[in-house]
Amino acid sequence: MERTYLIKPALDEEYPIVSYGKGVYLYDLDGKQYLDASSGAVTANIGHGVEEIIEAMKEQSEKISFVYRSQFSSEPAEKLAEKIALSTPGDLNWSFFVNSGSEATETAMKVAIQYWQEKGFPLKSKILSRWVSYHGITLGALSMSGHPGRRSRFVPLLADFPNVSPPYCYRCPFNQTPESCKYECAQELDTALSRIGPESVAAFIAEPIVGAAGGCITPPKGYYKKVKEICETHNVLFIADEVMTGFGRTGTMLASEHWGIIPDIVCLGKGMGAGYAPIAATVVSEKVMEPIMSGSKQIMSGHTLSANPQSAAVALAVMEYLENNNLFADVDSKGIYLKNLIEKLRVQYPFIGDIRGKGLLLGLEFVEDRETKQSFSKEFNVTSRLVKIAQSLGLLVYPASAGLDGTSGDAIIIAPPLTITKREIEELVRLLESSMVQLKQELVK
Ligand code: PLP
Repeated sequence: MERTYLIKPALDEEYPIVSYGKGVYLYDLDGKQYLDASSGAVTANIGHGVEEIIEAMKEQSEKISFVYRSQFSSEPAEKLAEKIALSTPGDLNWSFFVNSGSEATETAMKVAIQYWQEKGFPLKSKILSRWVSYHGITLGALSMSGHPGRRSRFVPLLADFPNVSPPYCYRCPFNQTPESCKYECAQELDTALSRIGPESVAAFIAEPIVGAAGGCITPPKGYYKKVKEICETHNVLFIADEVMTGFGRTGTMLASEHWGIIPDIVCLGKGMGAGYAPIAATVVSEKVMEPIMSGSKQIMSGHTLSANPQSAAVALAVMEYLENNNLFADVDSKGIYLKNLIEKLRVQYPFIGDIRGKGLLLGLEFVEDRETKQSFSKEFNVTSRLVKIAQSLGLLVYPASAGLDGTSGDAIIIAPPLTITKREIEELVRLLESSMVQLKQELVK
């Protein structure tokens, strides 16, 4: 190609051109094979080129791909909403479909604010979140995101929402150990709500496992129970941003289920369409819908392509595929197998500081010194170096930020399609090791 007209993530880099994908593999136009160890951006949860999904897409497009949601509902959208209601815990019964995770979190923010307005509390409009978090790229979603790198250019346009500490056990903000931990990070939410005044706060939003901003920060066992209790005590809604963790990534429909909590609102995306169509959802509980249904009777949000039958048919087919192949059942054992193999690499590669996560959502944080947990200096570009080395060797991993400020550390996410086999997991780890060998050589240069 003479030149490109496409704005890609890095304008000074060349990207291979993909030809096709099958299962956990992608192939470029030169025929090079890549093992997709990150499901793209933790999205291709059932792998690439799945015939059942392709068939469902064809079938739906022969009927109808688009209707305007103020004129028609559609069978796929109705069935999908029903299936989500039946697959999620408690009274999470209502789905509002959008096209991206950012739209799902931004809608959740609006629904939470609207809920309190309908109940006669118009001042409850702030959304609390955690620093070291990512809730999306649109301005509302970015306002809730504790991700300095993505926020910095737009700070004047962002709502000034308060943040609290993340449950980042590897770098505990309160210098506690697992033995001495008293959930100080959850306690900080309580203190923050009392200080700010819960009468001005609509909701607290959190990713059950912090993905891109923290490299799979996984909380200690009782953290979310405490957080939920604190939200209830202060009359603040709890929004779980499950855009990355939802749809079986950790072995259950929602990662929240591991900690025995039922959020008031849940955001889904990524694995929902599994990369076959853009679709995401804000799933709202009966409790939150009730005053809206008896009040203004509509959610004050929406997009032209919200609930389009084409994307809904894809998400429905993805859910059926997950079910028919019983894919949630093996996530835990596959994740443990993968984690154990990666643990073995730790011996030869002292820059692997922490391995964390749940199910098939694993994060590796890299450090210069394992004893002190000192991060690498930024000039080493460890994350992007490793991601590039891996890709050159035919392995795709996802870059993440790390560190207590969400910028000072290096991490990658390993999150292969849930369909990955044992043999493919072993191949993944062999390729990861080859990448580490090369990284080690580059770091001593
Ligand atoms: N929320 C979480 C937890 C995410 O990981 C992401 C994307 O990485 C988003 C929201 C935003 O989703 P999207 O990129 O589809 O807008």
